Amino acid sequence: MELDSLYQEVILEHYKRPLHKSLKADPTIQVQHINTSCGDEITLNLHTDGKVVHDITWDGIGCSISQASTSVVSDLVRGKSITETLAIIDAFQAMIQSKGADSGDEDVLGDGVAFAGVAKFPARVKCALLGWMATKDAISQAIAK
Ligand code: ZN
Repeated sequence: MELDSLYQEVILEHYKRPLHKSLKADPTIQVQHINTSCGDEITLNLHTDGKVVHDITWDGIGCSISQASTSVVSDLVRGKSITETLAIIDAFQAMIQSKGADSGDEDVLGDGVAFAGVAKFPARVKCALLGWMATKDAISQAIAK
């Protein structure tokens, strides 16, 4: 897999020193997501009052793409409103499913744009999406609660 080297570095950095990778107790919702095609697994704890994402913490095992991507989303949406968070997740999903046509907006996605190149590798798209879909799932469960 050939990714832009700067982007590769961002992914590697998040993989080596993942952010918020330590489950915080008493979450509003805990979800577990797995990506069977690669063997990635994450557990994600969301703390929210239903309006703002106060905290996302997580633990997991798997490939560098899945773990780094979860690190990015857990840091990116912290402190943001639920509405804004869902819009950011949609933007990431659109980029990653664009087959390379959408390179992502750094103002919206932050380090998430580093995964733009993954869109050209269909087998890895699920790896990149794992943490983002877990976050989206946790939010919809928290809202329904
Ligand atoms: Zn993976």
